[in-house]
Amino acid sequence: MVGVAGAAGLEMEERKYVRLPIFLERGFLDLKRDVIAKRICSFCGTCIAFCDKIKPKNTAGKDGENEPEFVAEYDTICGLCYTFCPRISLPLSEIERRTFGEERKREEGDVLGVYRSCYAVRSKKGDIKGQDGGAVTSLLAYALEEGMIDCAVITTSDSQWKPIPKVAKSYEDLKEGAGTKYSIYPGVVGVKEAIEEGCSAIGFVGLPCQMQGLRKVQTVEQPYDVGIEKVKLLIGLFCMENFKMDLLDYIAKNYVKLERVSKFDIKGKEFLVYADEKYSIPLDEIKEYIAEGCPVCMDYTAELADISVGSVGSEEGWSTVFTRTEKGEEVVKGAAEKGYIEVKGIEKKGLGLIRRLATSKRKRGE
Ligand SMILES: Cc1cc2nc3c(=O)[nH]c(=O)nc-3n(C[C@H](O)[C@H](O)[C@H](O)COP(=O)(O)OP(=O)(O)OC[C@H]3O[C@@H](n4cnc5c(N)ncnc54)[C@H](O)[C@@H]3O)c2cc1C
Ligand code: SF4
Ligand code: SF4
Repeated sequence: MVGVAGAAGLEMEERKYVRLPIFLERGFLDLKRDVIAKRICSFCGTCIAFCDKIKPKNTAGKDGENEPEFVAEYDTICGLCYTFCPRISLPLSEIERRTFGEERKREEGDVLGVYRSCYAVRSKKGDIKGQDGGAVTSLLAYALEEGMIDCAVITTSDSQWKPIPKVAKSYEDLKEGAGTKYSIYPGVVGVKEAIEEGCSAIGFVGLPCQMQGLRKVQTVEQPYDVGIEKVKLLIGLFCMENFKMDLLDYIAKNYVKLERVSKFDIKGKEFLVYADEKYSIPLDEIKEYIAEGCPVCMDYTAELADISVGSVGSEEGWSTVFTRTEKGEEVVKGAAEKGYIEVKGIEKKGLGLIRRLATSKRKRGE
């Protein structure tokens, strides 16, 4: 983390969210009342990852719940889950100051967050079959093989496309994560697994809401020793929305068996399913499966990551990559120099499209 800011110049209104004592007398019941019962939980997994008494609850059906559940008898009201949850409060300017350095300020009206460079990236590794340009897997491979991280928490899936976190420690492990799984699940739990396995330089790939959770744990003044200093690299994915796990059942019932599916994708207003043939499902048809916490979400490009990656903005077969921190820039430049990826500038038209989508997401969430 660079540039931890001092108190000078901070608005008092924001400071009150990052001060330590405020949440110490809050427990899971408060989290339940203020986030889960209001149906704004993104199921990011941050509270689940760092408290043994909280587990994920998945109930079936399109109205089923994807939410954290308290599984112990006694709530110590230690304040941890309440403090860490990005849906309780997200002091963005403060987190940005502490993450990106005081001198880099978000411009008025900006919707892409703080960034240094934006590129179109494609993997040069023939055996990486990515969702788009294979940028994420290739960047992680470089960071792992150079020793910048000793593992990467990625998302693999079973034969039914159910997402599963994996602590990847080799190039072969990393390849298992390639490809997008459009199902909501509390992926931050993988960070806990990595810590428990003794990893001390952890890379993590996840959605904007998961970047928010981990950055909040990294930057908020808090007394809990959860090993967050071991998280060294955050790669965030663009995200307009995600879906309840039950979308998979709907597809299996109405379109194609999931074990025959080789890829899911979203293009424009269509949800695409690639199997022996290609199925195009209008997003309108599956809107009831959109995860409950998504409509209030305002971050399209994973603004708090070290590196953000998406498909929009680049031509087919390439990924769009924003570098946001010095470390992020170092990884992308190093991966290009060592022949993991090829890099070119992003076209103005592409950047304009990303900005339009980010603006519409922000307006939707307001
Ligand atoms: C739910 C979701 C919604 C998305 N929406 C958009 C969008 O609106 N616009 C856009 O431009 N891009 C979107 N993306 C990103 C896009 O689909 C690609 O992930 C991105 O372009 C990277 O492609 P790649 O070939 O570089 O990555 P790859 O090399 O294929 O690596 C993909 C990485 O994504 C991780 N991953 C896959 N599924 C999940 C998941 N559910 N949760 C956490 N991590 C996961 C894997 O661990 C892997 O490391 C979305 C991704 C997800 C998961
Ligand atoms: S948004 Fe994340 S941290 Fe907050 S309650 Fe939901 S899973 Fe837990
Ligand atoms: S829209 Fe994406 S980033 Fe936002 S809460 Fe939903 S899954 Fe998370």
